[in-house]
Amino acid sequence: MKAEAPANRPALDQLERPLNSLRISVIDRCDLRCSYCMPEEHYTWLPQEDVLSFAEIGTLVDAFVLAGVRKVRLTGGEPLLRRGLPELVARLRQQPGIEDLAMTTNATHLAELAGPLRQAGLNRVTVSLDSLRPERFKSLVRRDALNQVVEGIRAAGAAGFASLKINTVVMRGFNDDELEALIEFGRQVGGEVRFIEYMDVGGATLWSLDKVCSKAQILARLAEHWGPITPCGPQGRAPAERFLLADGTSFGVIASVTEPFCRACDRSRLTADGQWYLCLYAQEGMDLRHLVRAGQTAEELAAFIRQGWSRRIDRGAEERANAPHRGALYQVEALRQDPHREMHTRGG
Ligand code: SAM
Ligand code: SF4
Ligand code: SF4
Repeated sequence: MKAEAPANRPALDQLERPLNSLRISVIDRCDLRCSYCMPEEHYTWLPQEDVLSFAEIGTLVDAFVLAGVRKVRLTGGEPLLRRGLPELVARLRQQPGIEDLAMTTNATHLAELAGPLRQAGLNRVTVSLDSLRPERFKSLVRRDALNQVVEGIRAAGAAGFASLKINTVVMRGFNDDELEALIEFGRQVGGEVRFIEYMDVGGATLWSLDKVCSKAQILARLAEHWGPITPCGPQGRAPAERFLLADGTSFGVIASVTEPFCRACDRSRLTADGQWYLCLYAQEGMDLRHLVRAGQTAEELAAFIRQGWSRRIDRGAEERANAPHRGALYQVEALRQDPHREMHTRGG
């Protein structure tokens, strides 16, 4: 018999934001080198012995559920590079408190893994795709992988997930002429496209404000092509604001730079080596690995997590929006000193 879902009230932070959603980076490595995330030639990787086992991740997720989490997203690095990922999905599926189990992937290995992940109980998949033009794609990710990625996305479209989303980071003067083509592609594969403003996260050392294509510019461009665009109404705590084209096709925009949504943010992040970050921009994390390895129970860990969340005041993107002379968040030397500052370590 399936256990009852726990009815715990979620922990609230200093701004009364509930702890509801957890992003777990299952690996810091990646097989692509997107210019907005991993533009360098060399990286410092997390020590292998520090990477949490599936059992340790399972215990931590049990604790997060006791503290209020209902939504879990697997990410990375590239999560599909973590060997045996369907086993982790199956383990997390046994936790009745999780109402939504999703994953963000670059889709290079999704053709083989979409079926096994669906069978293991993964509900939703978000894939990243920034260009449909082979040469442009290659120059962006520094690998010749577009066919593999498109095949992976088609496999996900056919695998029966509850939803398929396509994330596109829009960079001014680079891929802002492909918005219509990406929406068309989304229709073909049964996926909804979400256009993301290029963010100055750790790792984005090539970031500058003039490369950001804003929500207003994205909507103007689509309206020019397709006519009037209608907002879908209140978005709750989801970062994407959704819109409809006149023919009923929906799409989303994530305006993290020009309209940050920190006030509604219910997310935190766990790195592959068990550091817990309360914000994408947070300088310091909390070490959960040593607690789980010291044998703490899920209840003990949950008490620590509740306390940590109750002190949270983070509003990283809002603070960045008010920073004078805004440029890249970190230079390479600062990233090398602590790889946890990297987006690919922290999980997007
Ligand atoms: N490797 C997987 C992928 O690319 O889908 C998962 C990890 S990746 C860090 C998660 C998401 O973060 C991707 O959709 C990616 O496009 C997004 N991302 C990375 N760097 C970004 C940046 N500078 N601005 C906006 N989004 C970014
Ligand atoms: Fe690109 Fe994702 Fe890899 Fe970053 S982690 S380089 S966004 S594929
Ligand atoms: Fe949440 Fe931090 Fe992102 Fe704001 S910047 S939405 S607080 S993770």
